[in-house]
Amino acid sequence: MPISKPRYRRVAARDRFDERDNVQARNTYEPGSEVYRSFYATHPEWEGVDQAIRDLPGLGRVGEPLDQLLLAQEMEALLRLSGEDVVDGPVAGVPVPLEPGRASLKIRAFARHLGADQVKIGPLDPANVYSHIGKTWGDPARPWGKPIALSHPFAISLAIGLNPEMIRTGPVLSETIEVMRVYGRLALAATTLAAYIRSLGYGARAHVMPNYQVLTVPVAIDAGMGELGRHGLMITKELGSCLKLATVTTELPMDMDAPVDIGVEEFCRDCRICAQSCPGGAIPHGEPKCVRGVEKWAINPEACFKVWNETGTDCGVCMASCPWTKPRTRLHRLAAEIASRKWRAGWWMSRVERLVYGPFRPKAMPGWFEKEPGVWRKYRRLG
Ligand code: SF4
Ligand code: SF4
Repeated sequence: MPISKPRYRRVAARDRFDERDNVQARNTYEPGSEVYRSFYATHPEWEGVDQAIRDLPGLGRVGEPLDQLLLAQEMEALLRLSGEDVVDGPVAGVPVPLEPGRASLKIRAFARHLGADQVKIGPLDPANVYSHIGKTWGDPARPWGKPIALSHPFAISLAIGLNPEMIRTGPVLSETIEVMRVYGRLALAATTLAAYIRSLGYGARAHVMPNYQVLTVPVAIDAGMGELGRHGLMITKELGSCLKLATVTTELPMDMDAPVDIGVEEFCRDCRICAQSCPGGAIPHGEPKCVRGVEKWAINPEACFKVWNETGTDCGVCMASCPWTKPRTRLHRLAAEIASRKWRAGWWMSRVERLVYGPFRPKAMPGWFEKEPGVWRKYRRLG
């Protein structure tokens, strides 16, 4: 149901998040480097925990070499698609006059044509823009610590659904291979869309994995795509938790979508399946807390990232175990419709979920992947 403002509660002024503090950015700081010295001089509390994570095998470094190469090549392609000269560029001289209704119709249709399953247009809240660059990926156009100045007033959120069957294999490489496939498709769609808008004479920048200047989840929630779940991911009625996001920010005036209430908050209060399934114990079982001015459930990023670096994958168990994540059959679409009507849906539907499917059990990897190493078997038992 469309509503006038997003359901999350703002309880204090919101500071912008510094990407340098992001646990994944911290993982790239090499001991002995200037970045390392400068960062941990002001954040000594993270030095020990970050080093313990650095000592683990690391993302993409677990599993058979034949399959590690699949992931490495997907990442190479993404790095090419996410360079600063690809996500942004020169703007054509004179803006083409375009009425906002016509502009939004065209943008939505083109984004879908490019492969987006869901497209929403909303405002860009400056609090959802990172304050400083933290992840550089060795790109000199993105110097570490540079303040980010992004004043686009509009944000177009694009979502592409993941294949739930592949995601249910997590936390092993086949899950991450699927995640990276979708990030690649999103990068192509978002960079093409941003280039199109610039060719109309309006500034536009794509925010794609791994080159973001905005927090894609709250931006998509503000645009009415879905609501935030207990696992820190967005849930939509159409795709559940099983999706990835990209954003295009722009100065092109467009008609915006309204935020939605699909009953996620009530559902998550009663459900907790993701918290029980999380192999890292990173998802809270309790009530939402105030995080940077907003009351919400927040995961423990260090506990989550430790699992990623031990399994060499991005895990995905929370996405896979969520009752909203189901193959897009008529029955499951009906269930999502009923869940969004509330009626304590989370209470009884999570019980039906447990009864029908039992505790979360990962699926076997497809046959075209090599065998599983011991660490994955350990996490599969935990899951
Ligand atoms: S990705 Fe895995 S470890 Fe991280 S929060 Fe989700 S279930 Fe937990
Ligand atoms: S598993 Fe349950 S509690 Fe967790 S995000 Fe999904 S609906 Fe919410």
